[in-house]
Amino acid sequence: MFMYYYAIHLPLALSKEFYYRSKVEIAAGARVLVSFNRKDMIGICGDRMQGPLSDKIRYKPVLEVLDEIPVLGPKLMELAGFMARYYRCSLGSACFAMLPAWLIPDIEAEVNWLAEDFPVPYQVLEPALAGGQSKRVSELRKQLKGKPVLHLVETASGQGLLKISRKLSSRDKPKTVNFVRLLEREPDLAKFPPKQKEALQLMLAIGKDEFPLAGISDTVSYSVVHALRKKGLLSITPKQVEREFFSYDSSAGPKAVDLNEEQRNAVSRISASAAGFGVDLLFGITGSGKTEVYIPLIRSCLKEGKGVIFLIPEIALTPQMVERFQGEFGSTLAISHSQLSDRQRLRQWQKIAAGECRIVIGARSAVFAPLPSLGLIIVDEEHEQSYKQDNNPRYNGRDLAVVRAGLENARIVLGSATPSLESWHNQSTGKYTLHTLNSRPLDIKLPEVRIISLQEDYNQQLLSDELIAAVSERLERKEQVILFQNRRGFSSYMQCLKCGELIKCANCDISMYYHRDREEMQCHYCGNTYPSPRKCPKCGSFSFSYGSPGTQKVEQLLQILFPQARVLRLDSDSARKQDSYKTMYRRMKDRDVDILLGTQMISKGLDFPNVTLVGIISADISLNVPDFRSAERTFQLCTQVAGRAGRADKSGEVIIQTYNPQHYAIVHAGNQDYRAFAAEELDHRRRLHYPPYYRLARILFQCADGSLLEQEMTVLEQKSLVVASAFAGNDLFLLGPAPAPFARMNNLHRWHLIFKARTPSLLKQALDQTASLYTPPKAIHAHTDVDPLSLM
Ligand code: ADP
Ligand code: ZN
Ligand code: ZN
Repeated sequence: MFMYYYAIHLPLALSKEFYYRSKVEIAAGARVLVSFNRKDMIGICGDRMQGPLSDKIRYKPVLEVLDEIPVLGPKLMELAGFMARYYRCSLGSACFAMLPAWLIPDIEAEVNWLAEDFPVPYQVLEPALAGGQSKRVSELRKQLKGKPVLHLVETASGQGLLKISRKLSSRDKPKTVNFVRLLEREPDLAKFPPKQKEALQLMLAIGKDEFPLAGISDTVSYSVVHALRKKGLLSITPKQVEREFFSYDSSAGPKAVDLNEEQRNAVSRISASAAGFGVDLLFGITGSGKTEVYIPLIRSCLKEGKGVIFLIPEIALTPQMVERFQGEFGSTLAISHSQLSDRQRLRQWQKIAAGECRIVIGARSAVFAPLPSLGLIIVDEEHEQSYKQDNNPRYNGRDLAVVRAGLENARIVLGSATPSLESWHNQSTGKYTLHTLNSRPLDIKLPEVRIISLQEDYNQQLLSDELIAAVSERLERKEQVILFQNRRGFSSYMQCLKCGELIKCANCDISMYYHRDREEMQCHYCGNTYPSPRKCPKCGSFSFSYGSPGTQKVEQLLQILFPQARVLRLDSDSARKQDSYKTMYRRMKDRDVDILLGTQMISKGLDFPNVTLVGIISADISLNVPDFRSAERTFQLCTQVAGRAGRADKSGEVIIQTYNPQHYAIVHAGNQDYRAFAAEELDHRRRLHYPPYYRLARILFQCADGSLLEQEMTVLEQKSLVVASAFAGNDLFLLGPAPAPFARMNNLHRWHLIFKARTPSLLKQALDQTASLYTPPKAIHAHTDVDPLSLM
C-alpha cells in the first residue's frame, strides 16, 4: 500500500524531528493524533518526506487526522519555522504557541451524548454513547478502533450534540451574578420613603427590566433593595453569566475627528507608500493622536477586503481604548486579552479564522491571529517590554509582527512616543520609514517638567517640599494629581538594626518586600510570603530599618500630609480584584479621587482632562537596575508618565524627583527630547557593543546543586574560549559564564553566558558552535534567550 511520511511537530521542547507514516495525504498545519512514548499526543503535521529514511526504521502510523482545513495555514507554518530557527525552540513549541488551548483535544476528557438520536455521520458513536453513557475520549478510541473519533467528538460538540467535560480553568467556570428584575413598571413613587423612591427612580431610568445588582450597588444600599423586594417591587435571581472583562458602551458610534495637518500627512504618506511589505515608524509625542492615524489606515485596509492585527500592551488595553475601536468597527472586531476564558478564546479564534472578525486587537499573542488575508499590522507602544514572552518560546511579538508582515506581504506600522532604540536605529539606516507627530492637537501644550534633586535633601524626605506644595495647590484648585512610584509594597526590605539580619526569601536568597497591609514579607520574584516578623529571627531585637519606600508607604504618607484628600492606590496588589482598573477609571473621571497613586500600571493610556500635576516620586528606581537598558527604560517611563498631565485646556506640570539630576536620561526626559536622548544613548551602545549595533543572546543555566553547576561552568568556560577564538576580533564578545545578578531563584542556582555578535548570522553560528561543544548534564536546565530583554 502506498504510504506517506510526515514530520510531526509535537508539543515538546526537544529539538529532534519525529516522523510518522500515513495511508492518507495530510495537509501541512493540520492536527493529527499520534502515539509518542506509548502516550497519545496531538501534533501538527509538518513537511512531507519523499519516503522512509531507511528500511530499518519502523515508522509509527498517524492514528487520526483531525483537520481537513489545517489550523495553521502556510504563512503561519512559515512563521513557526522562523521562530524555531531564530529563537532556538522546537517547531512543536512554536506551532502550539500559536493555537488556543482548547484546539488541542483533551484525550482524557469525558464526553456525553446530548441529542436524542445519532444523525449522520455520528451513528458510529451510538453503540458507545447511547443511553446517556459517559466515556473518556481515550476509551471511545479503543472501543471504536479505526474511526475518526476525535474529529467526530469535536464537530458534534461544535453542533451542540455532545458535551465535553474539560478540566476548567477558574476563568472558564461560569460566574453567578445576582440580577434585579423589576416587577412593576409604573409604581406610585409618592408612596415610598425618599431613599426607596430615589432607588426606584434610578432603576427605572436604566430602562431595562433586568440588570445586574452590582451595577447599582455603588449608589443604592442593599437594605433599600431588600426593602423594595419585600414590598414586591422587584425580585433578585442569581444567573450564570460569561465572564466579561470589559462592559463597554457598545452604543458609542464612530467619533468624528478632524485630523490635523501632521496626522493627515502621516496617513497619506503611509497609505501612499508602495503596496506590499514595508515598515513605518510613527513617532508621535504623547497625546499627539496616534490612534487617529491608525483608524483611517485600518479603515482603508478593510475596504480592500483585508484583515488587520492591532497589537497593544495588555495594560494599555483599557476600556476607553476598546470603546473607541468598538464604536468605530463594531462586530468585525475581536478583542483578545488575558481575561478571556479558554472557551471564549476558542470561539474568537474560530470567528477570526472564518473571516467573521477582520480586526484583531490584542497583546503579543495576537500576532498569531489566523486572519485569512492580512493587509496591515499595527504595533502600538512598540517599545514596550511586554511584547517579549519570558518563557518558551521566548519570542518578541513586535519583531515577529515585522516578520509576519514580510511573509504576508502586508504593511506594518510601529507607533510610539519613545521608540525602542532598535526601531529608531532602523529608521536612521533607512530600513523603516519615519513619520512624526510633533505636536498635540487642539493646541494642547506639553507639560512643564521640573526636576527636583534629592541630593541636598538631608532629611531624606520621600516627598520634597516642592512636590508637597504643588500637590496642595492642586487640591485647593480641585484639580487632580497622579503620583507615580514604580515599586509596590511598603518597603523593599526589612533589616534588623541591631545585628544586621536581612529578611530574605529562602528560595531566592534576595531580600523580601514588606507589605504592611497584610503584615507580610513577600518575595517579588517567586511570590513566596511569610508573616512579617515582630522581632529579629536571629537576635530577637524589635527594631528594624526598612528599605526603599513602595506605594503603600507613599499612601500612608499622603494620608498624613493631606488628610482631606481622597487617595486611590493602584498597583498589582490592589488590582487583584478584576474590576479595580475600571473602578479607578470611573472614579477618576467622576473626580471622585484627588490623588491617584500607582506603579507602572497607571503609566499608559490614561486621559483625564482634570489631571494637572504628575509627580514621579523616585526616578532612580529604574535607573539603578544593573542592566544596559536602564537609561532607556527610565527615559521611557518618565516621558510616558509625564504624558498623563495637561491633556485638555488646563496646562500641566510634571515633577521628577531624583538623586541623579545630572543623568542624561533624566535631563532629556526633563526636556522631553527623545531625539537627543536617542543620540546619546546610541553612542553608548555603539561603544559598548550593545543592541542595536550588536545582537544579544544569553544561555541561562539553572541547577539545584550549586557546586555541580559551578563545576560544570568551568567546563563551559573552556569551551567558550574555543568558540570565541573561532571568530574575528569584533565579531563576537562572550561574557561569562558568570553567576547571574539573581544568583539564586526558586531554589535554583543560576549562571549565564552572554553572547554579543555583530550580526544575527554570527550570533547563530556562535550559539550553534557552543551547543555542539557543550551539553550540560540532565541535572542542569539550560535555555537560550535570543534578543533578551532581561539579563537578571
Ligand atoms: P497618543 O496615543 O498619541 O498619546 P491619542 O491617540 O490617545 O494620543 O490622542 C490623545 C487625545 O487627543 C485623544 O483624546 C484624542 O481623541 C484626541 N485627538 C487626537 N487627534 C485629534 C484631532 N485631530 N482633533 C481633536 N482631538 C484629537
Ligand atoms: Zn537581629
Ligand atoms: Zn523568592
